[in-house]
Amino acid sequence: MSIYLDNNATTRVDSEVLQAMLPFFADQFGNPSSMHDIGAAAGAAMKTARQQLQALIGAKFDHEIIFTSGGTESNNTAILSALDVMPERSEIVTSAVEHPAVLTLCGHLEKTRGIKVHRIPVDQHGRLDLDAYRAALTHRVAIVSIMWANNETGTIFPVARLSEMAKNVGAIFHTDAVPAIGKLPVDLKSTAIDMLSLSGHKFHGPKGVGALYIKSGVPFHALIMGGHQQRNRRAGTENTPGIVGLGKAAELALWRMDEEITWVKSLRDRLEEGLLKRIPKTFVTGDPLARLPNTTNVVFEGIGSEAVQFLLNRHGIACASGSACSSGSSRQSHVLEAMNPDAAALGAVRFSFSHFSREEDVDQVLEVIPGIVMKLRGSFPFSAGGERRRIDNSAAAAR
Ligand SMILES: *Cc1c(COP(=O)(O)O)cnc(C)c1O
Repeated sequence: MSIYLDNNATTRVDSEVLQAMLPFFADQFGNPSSMHDIGAAAGAAMKTARQQLQALIGAKFDHEIIFTSGGTESNNTAILSALDVMPERSEIVTSAVEHPAVLTLCGHLEKTRGIKVHRIPVDQHGRLDLDAYRAALTHRVAIVSIMWANNETGTIFPVARLSEMAKNVGAIFHTDAVPAIGKLPVDLKSTAIDMLSLSGHKFHGPKGVGALYIKSGVPFHALIMGGHQQRNRRAGTENTPGIVGLGKAAELALWRMDEEITWVKSLRDRLEEGLLKRIPKTFVTGDPLARLPNTTNVVFEGIGSEAVQFLLNRHGIACASGSACSSGSSRQSHVLEAMNPDAAALGAVRFSFSHFSREEDVDQVLEVIPGIVMKLRGSFPFSAGGERRRIDNSAAAAR
Protein backbone atom coordinates (compact mmCIF):
# COMPACT_ATOMS: atom_id res chain seq x y z
CA MET A 1 0.00 0.00 0.00
CA SER A 2 1.69 3.18 -1.09
CA ILE A 3 -0.70 5.82 0.27
CA TYR A 4 -1.97 5.42 3.82
CA LEU A 5 -4.76 7.79 4.84
CA ASP A 6 -6.34 5.67 7.56
CA ASN A 7 -4.49 6.93 10.60
CA ASN A 8 -7.56 6.91 12.85
CA ALA A 9 -7.62 3.12 12.46
CA THR A 10 -3.98 2.73 13.36
CA THR A 11 -0.63 4.39 12.74
CA ARG A 12 2.87 3.33 11.79
CA VAL A 13 5.18 2.80 14.76
CA ASP A 14 7.74 5.60 14.71
CA SER A 15 11.29 4.32 14.19
CA GLU A 16 12.41 6.10 17.39
CA VAL A 17 9.67 4.28 19.27
CA LEU A 18 10.78 0.95 17.86
CA GLN A 19 14.42 1.65 18.81
CA ALA A 20 13.39 2.58 22.35
CA MET A 21 11.45 -0.69 22.71
CA LEU A 22 14.02 -3.16 21.36
CA PRO A 23 16.30 -3.39 24.43
CA PHE A 24 13.31 -4.40 26.56
CA PHE A 25 12.91 -7.56 24.51
CA ALA A 26 16.62 -8.34 24.97
CA ASP A 27 19.12 -7.31 27.67
CA GLN A 28 16.56 -5.38 29.69
CA PHE A 29 14.06 -8.21 29.90
CA GLY A 30 13.49 -7.95 33.67
CA ASN A 31 10.19 -8.15 35.50
CA PRO A 32 9.53 -4.72 37.05
CA SER A 33 8.26 -6.40 40.23
CA SER A 34 11.52 -8.30 40.85
CA MET A 35 13.75 -7.19 43.73
CA HIS A 36 17.00 -7.23 41.75
CA ASP A 37 18.81 -4.86 39.43
CA ILE A 38 17.49 -6.41 36.22
CA GLY A 39 13.95 -5.95 37.46
CA ALA A 40 14.66 -2.47 38.78
CA ALA A 41 15.85 -1.33 35.34
CA ALA A 42 12.50 -2.31 33.86
CA GLY A 43 10.72 -0.57 36.74
CA ALA A 44 12.69 2.62 36.13
CA ALA A 45 11.83 2.55 32.43
CA MET A 46 8.16 2.23 33.32
CA LYS A 47 8.40 5.24 35.59
CA THR A 48 9.92 7.25 32.76
CA ALA A 49 7.05 6.21 30.48
CA ARG A 50 4.54 7.30 33.11
CA GLN A 51 6.20 10.70 33.29
CA GLN A 52 6.21 11.02 29.52
CA LEU A 53 2.45 10.41 29.48
CA GLN A 54 1.94 12.72 32.43
CA ALA A 55 3.58 15.51 30.45
CA LEU A 56 1.53 14.82 27.33
CA ILE A 57 -1.85 14.96 29.07
CA GLY A 58 -1.03 17.45 31.79
CA ALA A 59 -1.65 15.09 34.71
CA LYS A 60 -0.65 16.40 38.13
CA PHE A 61 1.11 13.20 39.32
CA ASP A 62 2.72 10.34 37.42
CA HIS A 63 0.92 7.80 39.60
CA GLU A 64 -2.38 8.96 38.11
CA ILE A 65 -1.56 6.79 35.09
CA ILE A 66 -2.06 3.03 34.85
CA PHE A 67 -1.00 1.02 31.83
CA THR A 68 -3.52 -1.21 30.12
CA SER A 69 -3.76 -3.27 26.93
CA GLY A 70 -5.23 -0.31 25.01
CA GLY A 71 -8.21 1.96 24.56
CA THR A 72 -10.79 -0.80 24.83
CA GLU A 73 -9.53 -2.05 28.19
CA SER A 74 -9.18 1.49 29.52
CA ASN A 75 -12.79 2.29 28.62
CA ASN A 76 -14.09 -0.96 30.14
CA THR A 77 -12.04 -0.39 33.30
CA ALA A 78 -13.31 3.17 33.80
CA ILE A 79 -16.99 2.34 33.43
CA LEU A 80 -16.97 -0.86 35.46
CA SER A 81 -14.92 0.80 38.20
CA ALA A 82 -17.42 3.65 38.58
CA LEU A 83 -20.32 1.21 38.95
CA ASP A 84 -18.34 -0.74 41.56
CA VAL A 85 -17.37 2.26 43.67
CA MET A 86 -20.84 3.83 43.56
CA PRO A 87 -23.20 0.89 44.02
CA GLU A 88 -26.01 3.23 45.06
CA ARG A 89 -26.03 4.74 41.56
CA SER A 90 -27.27 2.76 38.56
CA GLU A 91 -27.19 5.05 35.53
CA ILE A 92 -24.64 5.84 32.83
CA VAL A 93 -24.62 8.88 30.58
CA THR A 94 -22.84 8.51 27.26
CA SER A 95 -23.32 9.66 23.66
CA ALA A 96 -24.90 7.93 20.69
CA VAL A 97 -21.61 8.19 18.79
CA GLU A 98 -19.10 6.58 21.17
CA HIS A 99 -16.71 3.85 20.06
CA PRO A 100 -18.02 0.27 20.39
CA ALA A 101 -15.57 -0.11 23.30
CA VAL A 102 -18.04 2.02 25.27
CA LEU A 103 -21.38 1.34 23.60
CA THR A 104 -21.14 -2.45 23.52
CA LEU A 105 -20.27 -2.56 27.21
CA CYS A 106 -23.14 -0.18 28.03
CA GLY A 107 -25.59 -2.35 26.10
CA HIS A 108 -24.36 -5.39 28.00
CA LEU A 109 -24.74 -3.67 31.38
CA GLU A 110 -28.23 -2.59 30.44
CA LYS A 111 -29.22 -6.17 29.62
CA THR A 112 -27.45 -8.04 32.38
CA ARG A 113 -27.38 -5.61 35.30
CA GLY A 114 -30.40 -3.40 34.75
CA ILE A 115 -28.22 -0.31 34.37
CA LYS A 116 -30.02 2.62 32.74
CA VAL A 117 -28.01 4.04 29.85
CA HIS A 118 -28.63 7.55 28.50
CA ARG A 119 -27.26 7.76 24.95
CA ILE A 120 -27.26 11.51 24.31
CA PRO A 121 -28.11 12.32 20.69
CA VAL A 122 -26.10 14.55 18.35
CA ASP A 123 -27.07 16.98 15.59
CA GLN A 124 -26.19 16.66 11.89
CA HIS A 125 -22.63 17.88 12.56
CA GLY A 126 -22.19 15.38 15.37
CA ARG A 127 -22.51 17.97 18.15
CA LEU A 128 -23.89 16.80 21.47
CA ASP A 129 -27.44 17.82 22.42
CA LEU A 130 -26.60 19.85 25.54
CA ASP A 131 -30.20 20.09 26.72
CA ALA A 132 -30.58 16.33 26.64
CA TYR A 133 -27.23 16.02 28.42
CA ARG A 134 -28.29 18.42 31.17
CA ALA A 135 -31.59 16.59 31.58
CA ALA A 136 -29.88 13.20 31.97
CA LEU A 137 -27.55 14.39 34.73
CA THR A 138 -28.99 13.41 38.11
CA HIS A 139 -27.64 11.96 41.35
CA ARG A 140 -28.48 8.51 39.98
CA VAL A 141 -25.63 8.75 37.46
CA ALA A 142 -22.45 6.88 38.44
CA ILE A 143 -20.40 7.79 35.39
CA VAL A 144 -20.50 10.01 32.34
CA SER A 145 -18.43 8.69 29.44
CA ILE A 146 -18.16 11.10 26.51
CA MET A 147 -15.36 10.96 23.96
CA TRP A 148 -12.98 13.89 23.53
CA ALA A 149 -13.38 13.72 19.75
CA ASN A 150 -15.15 11.33 17.45
CA ASN A 151 -12.95 8.91 15.53
CA GLU A 152 -15.16 8.85 12.41
CA THR A 153 -16.07 12.52 11.91
CA GLY A 154 -13.45 14.28 14.02
CA THR A 155 -16.11 16.34 15.84
CA ILE A 156 -14.70 17.59 19.15
CA PHE A 157 -16.85 17.52 22.28
CA PRO A 158 -16.58 20.28 24.92
CA VAL A 159 -15.35 17.81 27.55
CA ALA A 160 -14.01 20.42 29.97
CA ARG A 161 -17.46 21.98 30.24
CA LEU A 162 -19.23 18.60 30.24
CA SER A 163 -17.01 17.43 33.11
CA GLU A 164 -17.92 20.48 35.20
CA MET A 165 -21.60 19.72 34.68
CA ALA A 166 -21.13 16.07 35.69
CA LYS A 167 -19.27 17.16 38.82
CA ASN A 168 -22.35 19.11 39.94
CA VAL A 169 -24.27 15.86 40.37
CA GLY A 170 -21.32 13.95 41.83
CA ALA A 171 -20.86 11.66 38.84
CA ILE A 172 -17.43 10.44 37.72
CA PHE A 173 -16.50 11.95 34.35
CA HIS A 174 -14.59 9.72 31.93
CA THR A 175 -13.48 10.62 28.42
CA ASP A 176 -12.32 8.31 25.63
CA ALA A 177 -9.55 10.52 24.24
CA VAL A 178 -8.03 7.89 21.96
CA PRO A 179 -8.33 9.81 18.65
CA ALA A 180 -7.54 13.19 20.23
CA ILE A 181 -4.18 12.35 21.77
CA GLY A 182 -1.32 13.98 19.89
CA LYS A 183 -3.73 16.00 17.75
CA LEU A 184 -5.13 18.33 20.37
CA PRO A 185 -3.48 19.91 23.40
CA VAL A 186 -4.71 18.16 26.55
CA ASP A 187 -4.18 19.64 30.02
CA LEU A 188 -6.08 17.61 32.58
CA LYS A 189 -4.94 19.62 35.61
CA SER A 190 -7.13 22.48 34.46
CA THR A 191 -10.30 20.36 34.05
CA ALA A 192 -12.72 18.37 36.19
CA ILE A 193 -12.09 15.23 34.10
CA ASP A 194 -11.69 12.23 36.43
CA MET A 195 -10.60 9.55 33.98
CA LEU A 196 -9.21 9.47 30.45
CA SER A 197 -8.44 6.61 28.06
CA LEU A 198 -5.66 6.63 25.47
CA SER A 199 -4.11 4.07 23.15
CA GLY A 200 -0.54 3.78 21.85
CA HIS A 201 -1.20 2.62 18.32
CA LYS A 202 -3.23 5.69 17.42
CA PHE A 203 -0.23 7.98 17.82
CA HIS A 204 2.72 6.02 16.44
CA GLY A 205 3.19 3.76 19.45
CA PRO A 206 2.74 -0.02 19.49
CA LYS A 207 -0.55 -1.89 19.42
CA GLY A 208 -1.88 -3.63 22.51
CA VAL A 209 -0.80 -0.98 25.01
CA GLY A 210 -2.60 2.06 26.33
CA ALA A 211 -3.29 3.90 29.53
CA LEU A 212 -6.04 5.02 31.84
CA TYR A 213 -5.63 8.29 33.70
CA ILE A 214 -7.33 8.30 37.10
CA LYS A 215 -7.29 11.65 38.84
CA SER A 216 -5.72 11.47 42.28
CA GLY A 217 -8.46 10.97 44.91
CA VAL A 218 -11.04 9.51 42.53
CA PRO A 219 -12.28 6.19 43.94
CA PHE A 220 -11.25 3.26 41.78
CA HIS A 221 -11.78 -0.46 41.58
CA ALA A 222 -9.52 -2.67 39.46
CA LEU A 223 -10.94 -4.59 36.54
CA ILE A 224 -8.09 -7.10 36.21
CA MET A 225 -7.39 -8.72 39.56
CA GLY A 226 -4.37 -10.75 40.56
CA GLY A 227 -0.92 -9.60 41.68
CA HIS A 228 0.04 -6.28 43.19
CA GLN A 229 1.28 -4.64 40.00
CA GLN A 230 0.57 -0.94 39.39
CA ARG A 231 -0.47 -0.33 43.02
CA ASN A 232 -3.13 -3.04 42.81
CA ARG A 233 -4.91 -1.15 40.07
CA ARG A 234 -4.14 -3.44 37.15
CA ALA A 235 -2.78 -6.89 37.86
CA GLY A 236 -0.52 -8.82 35.52
CA THR A 237 3.16 -8.50 34.63
CA GLU A 238 3.52 -5.25 32.77
CA ASN A 239 4.15 -5.15 29.03
CA THR A 240 7.44 -3.30 29.52
CA PRO A 241 8.51 -3.07 25.85
CA GLY A 242 5.04 -1.78 24.94
CA ILE A 243 4.97 0.65 27.84
CA VAL A 244 8.41 2.01 26.94
CA GLY A 245 7.18 2.45 23.35
CA LEU A 246 4.02 4.17 24.53
CA GLY A 247 6.08 6.58 26.64
CA LYS A 248 8.40 7.37 23.74
CA ALA A 249 5.42 7.94 21.44
CA ALA A 250 3.97 10.34 24.03
CA GLU A 251 7.25 12.24 24.22
CA LEU A 252 7.43 12.56 20.42
CA ALA A 253 3.77 13.59 20.21
CA LEU A 254 4.34 16.38 22.71
CA TRP A 255 7.47 17.62 20.92
CA ARG A 256 5.76 17.59 17.55
CA MET A 257 2.30 18.71 18.56
CA ASP A 258 2.23 22.24 17.10
CA GLU A 259 4.04 21.29 13.94
CA GLU A 260 1.95 18.16 13.47
CA ILE A 261 -1.36 19.98 13.94
CA THR A 262 -0.39 22.57 11.33
CA TRP A 263 0.83 19.90 8.90
CA VAL A 264 -2.10 17.46 9.06
CA LYS A 265 -4.59 20.32 8.97
CA SER A 266 -3.02 21.74 5.82
CA LEU A 267 -3.20 18.34 4.10
CA ARG A 268 -6.74 17.72 5.30
CA ASP A 269 -7.91 21.14 4.09
CA ARG A 270 -6.15 20.67 0.75
CA LEU A 271 -8.00 17.39 0.27
CA GLU A 272 -11.37 18.76 1.35
CA GLU A 273 -11.14 21.83 -0.84
CA GLY A 274 -10.07 19.72 -3.79
CA LEU A 275 -12.87 17.20 -3.34
CA LEU A 276 -15.58 19.83 -2.90
CA LYS A 277 -14.34 21.74 -5.93
CA ARG A 278 -14.01 18.74 -8.23
CA ILE A 279 -16.98 16.61 -7.24
CA PRO A 280 -20.54 17.95 -7.15
CA LYS A 281 -23.02 16.75 -4.53
CA THR A 282 -20.33 16.11 -1.98
CA PHE A 283 -20.30 17.21 1.63
CA VAL A 284 -18.18 16.92 4.72
CA THR A 285 -19.78 15.56 7.89
CA GLY A 286 -18.47 16.69 11.27
CA ASP A 287 -18.38 20.04 13.00
CA PRO A 288 -16.88 22.68 10.68
CA LEU A 289 -15.69 24.67 13.71
CA ALA A 290 -14.56 22.06 16.24
CA ARG A 291 -12.95 19.14 14.47
CA LEU A 292 -9.78 17.07 14.78
CA PRO A 293 -7.18 18.60 12.46
CA ASN A 294 -6.30 15.27 10.83
CA THR A 295 -9.74 13.89 9.98
CA THR A 296 -12.24 14.38 7.20
CA ASN A 297 -15.35 12.30 6.61
CA VAL A 298 -16.95 12.82 3.22
CA VAL A 299 -20.32 11.85 1.79
CA PHE A 300 -20.54 11.43 -2.00
CA GLU A 301 -24.27 11.61 -2.55
CA GLY A 302 -25.86 8.70 -4.36
CA ILE A 303 -23.01 6.19 -4.05
CA GLY A 304 -21.91 3.74 -1.40
CA SER A 305 -18.79 4.64 0.57
CA GLU A 306 -17.58 1.05 0.52
CA ALA A 307 -17.46 1.01 -3.26
CA VAL A 308 -15.39 4.22 -3.23
CA GLN A 309 -13.05 2.77 -0.65
CA PHE A 310 -12.73 -0.46 -2.62
CA LEU A 311 -11.79 1.33 -5.83
CA LEU A 312 -9.37 3.68 -4.03
CA ASN A 313 -7.74 0.60 -2.54
CA ARG A 314 -7.17 -0.70 -6.08
CA HIS A 315 -5.26 2.50 -6.75
CA GLY A 316 -3.09 1.83 -3.71
CA ILE A 317 -4.90 4.32 -1.50
CA ALA A 318 -5.98 3.21 1.98
CA CYS A 319 -8.87 5.02 3.63
CA ALA A 320 -11.93 3.94 5.63
CA SER A 321 -15.63 3.73 5.01
CA GLY A 322 -17.79 3.72 8.11
CA SER A 323 -15.93 2.68 11.22
CA ALA A 324 -12.49 1.15 10.82
CA CYS A 325 -13.28 -1.18 13.64
CA SER A 326 -16.13 -2.66 11.66
CA SER A 327 -14.33 -2.73 8.32
CA GLY A 328 -14.71 -6.05 6.65
CA SER A 329 -18.35 -6.03 7.61
CA SER A 330 -20.87 -3.96 5.71
CA ARG A 331 -22.53 -2.75 8.88
CA GLN A 332 -23.64 0.82 8.65
CA SER A 333 -22.02 3.47 10.78
CA HIS A 334 -23.86 4.17 14.05
CA VAL A 335 -22.18 7.58 14.06
CA LEU A 336 -23.57 8.65 10.70
CA GLU A 337 -26.88 7.09 11.62
CA ALA A 338 -27.08 9.32 14.70
CA MET A 339 -26.14 12.42 12.67
CA ASN A 340 -27.90 11.94 9.38
CA PRO A 341 -29.96 8.77 8.91
CA ASP A 342 -30.47 9.55 5.20
CA ALA A 343 -26.74 9.53 4.54
CA ALA A 344 -26.09 6.52 6.75
CA ALA A 345 -27.36 3.93 4.30
CA LEU A 346 -24.66 4.84 1.78
CA GLY A 347 -22.00 5.83 4.28
CA ALA A 348 -19.10 8.25 4.26
CA VAL A 349 -15.44 7.92 3.32
CA ARG A 350 -12.94 8.85 6.02
CA PHE A 351 -9.46 10.11 5.29
CA SER A 352 -7.22 10.55 8.32
CA PHE A 353 -3.70 11.96 8.25
CA SER A 354 -0.54 11.68 10.33
CA HIS A 355 2.79 13.48 10.20
CA PHE A 356 4.00 10.75 7.83
CA SER A 357 1.36 11.86 5.27
CA ARG A 358 2.59 13.77 2.24
CA GLU A 359 1.21 16.36 -0.14
CA GLU A 360 1.64 13.88 -3.01
CA ASP A 361 -0.76 11.56 -1.21
CA VAL A 362 -3.48 14.19 -1.34
CA ASP A 363 -2.76 15.04 -4.95
CA GLN A 364 -2.94 11.37 -5.91
CA VAL A 365 -6.35 11.00 -4.25
CA LEU A 366 -7.59 14.13 -5.98
CA GLU A 367 -6.41 12.78 -9.29
CA VAL A 368 -8.19 9.42 -9.13
CA ILE A 369 -11.28 10.07 -7.07
CA PRO A 370 -13.35 12.19 -9.48
CA GLY A 371 -13.24 9.36 -12.03
CA ILE A 372 -14.19 6.79 -9.39
CA VAL A 373 -17.15 8.83 -8.21
CA MET A 374 -18.31 9.53 -11.77
CA LYS A 375 -18.12 5.85 -12.68
CA LEU A 376 -20.06 4.82 -9.61
CA ARG A 377 -22.67 7.48 -10.23
CA GLY A 378 -23.02 6.12 -13.73
CA SER A 379 -22.17 9.35 -15.45
CA PHE A 380 -18.82 8.27 -16.84
CA PRO A 381 -19.05 9.02 -20.57
CA PHE A 382 -18.12 5.50 -21.69
CA SER A 383 -19.88 3.61 -18.94
CA ALA A 384 -22.89 2.22 -20.66
CA GLY A 385 -24.25 -0.78 -18.72
CA GLY A 386 -21.25 -3.11 -18.99
CA GLU A 387 -18.74 -0.88 -17.27
CA ARG A 388 -21.15 0.01 -14.53
CA ARG A 389 -22.09 -3.57 -13.85
CA ARG A 390 -18.46 -4.55 -13.57
CA ILE A 391 -17.88 -1.91 -10.89
CA ASP A 392 -20.98 -2.94 -8.99
CA ASN A 393 -19.83 -6.56 -8.98
CA SER A 394 -16.37 -5.71 -7.75
CA ALA A 395 -17.81 -3.54 -5.00
CA ALA A 396 -20.03 -6.38 -3.90
CA ALA A 397 -17.06 -8.74 -3.94
CA ALA A 398 -15.29 -6.46 -1.50
CA ARG A 399 -17.81 -7.15 1.20
C1 LIG B 1 -9.22 2.94 18.39
C2 LIG B 1 -10.19 3.43 19.37
C3 LIG B 1 -10.44 2.71 20.56
C4 LIG B 1 -9.84 1.36 20.82
O1 LIG B 1 -8.49 1.39 21.18
P1 LIG B 1 -7.67 0.01 21.15
O2 LIG B 1 -6.35 0.37 21.71
O3 LIG B 1 -7.62 -0.40 19.70
O4 LIG B 1 -8.41 -0.97 22.00
C5 LIG B 1 -11.31 3.23 21.47
N1 LIG B 1 -11.93 4.40 21.25
C6 LIG B 1 -11.73 5.12 20.13
C7 LIG B 1 -12.46 6.40 19.96
C8 LIG B 1 -10.86 4.65 19.15
O5 LIG B 1 -10.69 5.37 18.03
